[in-house]
Amino acid sequence: MASLREFVRITAGRMGVPAVVFAAGLVLSGYACQLYWQRSEAQQLAQLGEAANNYASLLRQRLEQYVSATRALAAFFSASDAISREEFDNYVKASRMLDRLEGMSSFGYLPRVPAARLAPFEAEAARMFPGYRVVEPRPGAADYYPLLYGQHAWDPLRADRLRGIDFAAVPVRWRAMQRAAATDEPVATALHTALRDPANRPVVLIFAPVRKASAGVPDELAGFIFTALYVRQLFGTFDEGRLAQQFDLEVFDGSVAAATTVFDADGATHALQRGRAHVLAHRAEVRFGERRWLLYFYAKRAQLAAGSLNEAALVFSVGMLLTLIASYAALAWPRYASGKRAMRDFSERFAGFFEHHPFAVFALDPQGRFLQANQQMARELGVSREELAGMAVARFVPQQDREAAARSFDEVLAGNAVAYTHQVESADGRRADLSIVMIPMSAGDTVSHVLGFAENITERKQAEAALHASRQMLQAILDNIPQSVFWKNVDSIYQGGNRSLLEAAGLHSIDQLIGKTDADLRWKDQAEVYRQVDLDVIRSGVPRMRMQARDVRRDGEVCWIETSKIPLKDDRGQVMGVLAVTEDITARKYMEEELFRRANYDTLTGLPNRGYFNNQLEEAVKRAQRHHGLALMYFDIDRFKLINDTHGHDVGDSVIRLFAQRIRSVLREADFVARLGGDEFVLIAEGLNEAGDAVVIAQKLVAAMAAPFDLAGTPLPVTSSIGVAWFETGMAPEALVKAADQAMYDAKRAGRNCWRQAPAPRAASAEAPPGSD
Ligand code: GH3
Ligand code: MG
Repeated sequence: MASLREFVRITAGRMGVPAVVFAAGLVLSGYACQLYWQRSEAQQLAQLGEAANNYASLLRQRLEQYVSATRALAAFFSASDAISREEFDNYVKASRMLDRLEGMSSFGYLPRVPAARLAPFEAEAARMFPGYRVVEPRPGAADYYPLLYGQHAWDPLRADRLRGIDFAAVPVRWRAMQRAAATDEPVATALHTALRDPANRPVVLIFAPVRKASAGVPDELAGFIFTALYVRQLFGTFDEGRLAQQFDLEVFDGSVAAATTVFDADGATHALQRGRAHVLAHRAEVRFGERRWLLYFYAKRAQLAAGSLNEAALVFSVGMLLTLIASYAALAWPRYASGKRAMRDFSERFAGFFEHHPFAVFALDPQGRFLQANQQMARELGVSREELAGMAVARFVPQQDREAAARSFDEVLAGNAVAYTHQVESADGRRADLSIVMIPMSAGDTVSHVLGFAENITERKQAEAALHASRQMLQAILDNIPQSVFWKNVDSIYQGGNRSLLEAAGLHSIDQLIGKTDADLRWKDQAEVYRQVDLDVIRSGVPRMRMQARDVRRDGEVCWIETSKIPLKDDRGQVMGVLAVTEDITARKYMEEELFRRANYDTLTGLPNRGYFNNQLEEAVKRAQRHHGLALMYFDIDRFKLINDTHGHDVGDSVIRLFAQRIRSVLREADFVARLGGDEFVLIAEGLNEAGDAVVIAQKLVAAMAAPFDLAGTPLPVTSSIGVAWFETGMAPEALVKAADQAMYDAKRAGRNCWRQAPAPRAASAEAPPGSD
């Protein structure tokens, strides 16, 4: 017992309760199996005992019948004086004794023949059975009991062979005969060997006395009726062999001993053996004819075992099954119990923790069914929390997402936290995008439930989609404008740009641009210049707009570009880079120049026009206010109308053009000559030292006209009258113009082809030397 306790202690320590449960189950199953085996055996034995008991009863009846039949036959003989052979045969036929009493082999009549009456008896018997003799009469015997009549069940000649034999000569028979005579009842012999039987079959005879009145004695013993039973025949045919299948039957006469064995089916006498090698199913006693037969019914082991084995095996199997279940339960119980406990704790705390959580919070069991959910979750799914309990989460997942959702859930059950985004469809058909985090909650080494947090990101996703769309739109716009647009970070590293820029840079994709600086691109010669502008914008935070510069196109053509750079600021106002828009303005530049030219130049001569002159004069007057040295000259072609009229308007135009050329050719580059209209011209001469310098110019101009003009080979004399005005400090441009104009008219009046100088404002009359050639 102590060692068993020790075993349990050690086993429980090392392998835990489940192992102990298993061991106990194993032992109990074995014990139950054994008990059941025994019980089953006992039950079978009881059944067999019943069968054996029936058998014994039947045997008892059968033997009673033999005894009765013997007694009846004796009474029949007692009642008649003498019985003829015919009468005997008739009786046997009528009573059908041998047919009815199975197992009875033969019977016969043994008359008492006193030794003194041997001869007359033999003589009398010889009438029935010629040559009848008593076989070997014993010397000294008082009476002989020789067989007279006899019938045998299956051996008709047997009676003839035994006729005349004195049955009293066989001691075992004589003892029975004496006893029968003494008690006047049928008495059976002990087992002995049949007479003159080649097979030496064991046989039992029942003797019943026949009495007749004789010589004044009313019931003188007249002889015996006997019945013979072959015991092998008896037990072999008795129940058509049924017994032999179930039992080994052993029959003893009076007591159990080898010598008293009446019948032993298998020849091995178990009743005499020790031990439990053979199981005694039943013991019975049969009394007949003063004999006491002891019947031992031994169960056949094999049959007994087969039945017991099947049932015991079944019991053991069921026992082991229960053991395994119990062991598993013992194994799972702590986990189950701690899981339950954890679940209970969790449920109690869930509401407190998560009820007002801004996210949807929920708990699922390992089968994916709702255990808990906060208000937000119920709102998302459009189901009350009471309805939600026990519902499978999968029913809120749209069909196409279910497989992915199931995979995520399996991942959580495997013990990993999982984050993913998918759509849910609420009970009222709303679809929402949820960003979900699921965390496995473990009790012991298994996941008892799963805690989930879900954030509704539908609006964020929509905003992202809208932002994406607007970015796409912006990019599309950027890519389809002629200007190059690009943006750089504070280190002047490109962060993006449009298609126009890529084309200008000779790049094929945005990836080739991002991360580069100007030093990596086609205009690397200008990189330093561009970097300085970038830095200027970045540091000052002030845009630099419409910077124009010459550039060289990819095809090598010189062009003009205009660039605006704007500082890019983050939400705190910190400059994070620069956004630039660059445009090739070559064409615009040309247009501007053309317009300027058209607005400011005379188309016939290519000289500045009146408007340009007015501007120029104004500027010149301003400069002259400080530096002096300014002269203004008006000059006009003499009698030009006449040229027109004489040679035609076209020739007039040519004269005007040639006149302009001739003037330009004698003047300095810095001198400003303009055509005011018609045949009228004007000259602004700056940087002169004194009025005399202006006179020199006037003389030069007059001289320039000395040679006739060459008009397609025809010489034409052309002259000009010139008015010269000298600027004096404080003069307005208009005053200067007026003075020059006046001087020119003076020259006209003086006869033309000469110059006249306007008088100085303060001493106009004093200095008016007429100029003439
Ligand atoms: P004067 O010596 O007094 O200056 O006499 P003039 O004939 O030159 O007279 P005026 O200067 O007043 O006449 C200028 C003429 O020039 C008038 C006009 O018919 C002519 N004219 C003006 N513009 C043009 C032009 O563009 N081409 C031509 N062929 N003739 C012009
Ligand atoms: Mg003129």
